[in-house]
Amino acid sequence: MTGEGYKGYRGEALDVLRRFEAPIWSDVEITTDRGVFAGIILPRSETADPHHVVLKLPIGYNIGIAARRIQGITIHGRREAKYRIPEKEFPFDPKKPRVKLLGTGGTIASRLDYRTGAVIPAFSPGELYGSVPELADICNLETEKLYGVFSENMGPEQWRGTAEAIGREIQRGVQGIVIGHGTDTMHHTAAILSFMVQNSPVPIVMVGSQRSSDRPSSDAALNLMHSVKAAAESDLAEIMVCMFGPTSDSYGLLHRGTRVRKMHSSYRSTFRTIGDIPLAMVSRETITPLREDYKRRRADRDVVVNTAFEEKVSIVYYYPNMRPDILDSLIDNGYRGIVIAGTGLGHVNKPLYPALKRARENNIAVYMTVQTLWGYVQMYVYDTGRDMMELGVVPMANMLPEVAYVKLGWALGQTGDLVRVREIMETPIAGEITEREPSNGYLIFQGGIPEVEQFISRYRK
Ligand code: ASP
Repeated sequence: MTGEGYKGYRGEALDVLRRFEAPIWSDVEITTDRGVFAGIILPRSETADPHHVVLKLPIGYNIGIAARRIQGITIHGRREAKYRIPEKEFPFDPKKPRVKLLGTGGTIASRLDYRTGAVIPAFSPGELYGSVPELADICNLETEKLYGVFSENMGPEQWRGTAEAIGREIQRGVQGIVIGHGTDTMHHTAAILSFMVQNSPVPIVMVGSQRSSDRPSSDAALNLMHSVKAAAESDLAEIMVCMFGPTSDSYGLLHRGTRVRKMHSSYRSTFRTIGDIPLAMVSRETITPLREDYKRRRADRDVVVNTAFEEKVSIVYYYPNMRPDILDSLIDNGYRGIVIAGTGLGHVNKPLYPALKRARENNIAVYMTVQTLWGYVQMYVYDTGRDMMELGVVPMANMLPEVAYVKLGWALGQTGDLVRVREIMETPIAGEITEREPSNGYLIFQGGIPEVEQFISRYRK
């Protein structure tokens, strides 16, 4: 028995807290042989180890202190952390646009669970408004929780469900849609929605956060404000991702759903447009398009939702010395489509060729993309590329590997006829293939334009 006052603690960690009469939520200073740490003692999970006391530091991070190093604990008071945000009814203003927020989970819908010490999905519309009341200045926000998953658990079932929900909301007359989503696979979902939902008359803006809202450096609130503003007011009727632009919080960027990718595991400015420049900048005051070629908002409701998807599709990231058994296992397991992320201009080694031939004989669609992300597949440059095309491998221009993966699943969902599939794959639907990539986009137009300028100016003579 640990007792409520020492919730979750056992073993030597419980002993030391008892010795100094320091229950959970005590505001303390802990003296150790490595220095003094100030913070609040947090509860622990029943399954956590018995050797550490967990302290929430004033800067928001949690640390574990080994019980055996603790020499003394001075208690200054008690501060129970409030991690439930008060629910509030969203006010209705008939003059403001209606925006629907569909939640799927991820960090943006999460808070810290002090029972387990983990970040758990906990989406509640009222909580959301309770924590970001500024949203009411922009629109009338309605919310609906579709799923409560971290985004590695998003897949065809959730993609279909989200696409159908978008179609429904557009028919209901909303002026914009925001989709809360985990950042890890947001670019996969943005891409598949770009194919499943076409001709949207309103902006569809995906948003997430890299840091949960209980952390001081959280990007959740600002990303939400930016995305809701883009959904409510922008003229860009596309599937987009809206996240921090620069590493500072000066503005967000709107990225086209088929050209965006998560590029950093922890930076808040993790999303980057690849092979192009972003669609627009968004601040709390204004939306500034960075280009002209976007689909404009319309008054009609003529959205087309097509959620057919063949799940037996795989993506293979080529590495030197890859053996044909990797492809053989896909063929033997009944896969209908394979996207290869090849080296350089789109290469794999020669030992894979017999497996590629087998794939063609088994009527499996094989498409080539590049690991470099920027630039085009070029299979005419080396004879190896020509050999692979002979074996039925189709070059996918500058389509990003993950985009080709979801598009192939979608195309095979429409038809089993590989000639038709190829037509679908080679016809750009939502900017997934572009005629050229901007030479300056590679370095400059990646958000943080001032930062880049500052960086460059240091080296400019
Ligand atoms: N693992 C989380 C997810 O993708 C990370 C995030 O939301 O940023 O769901």
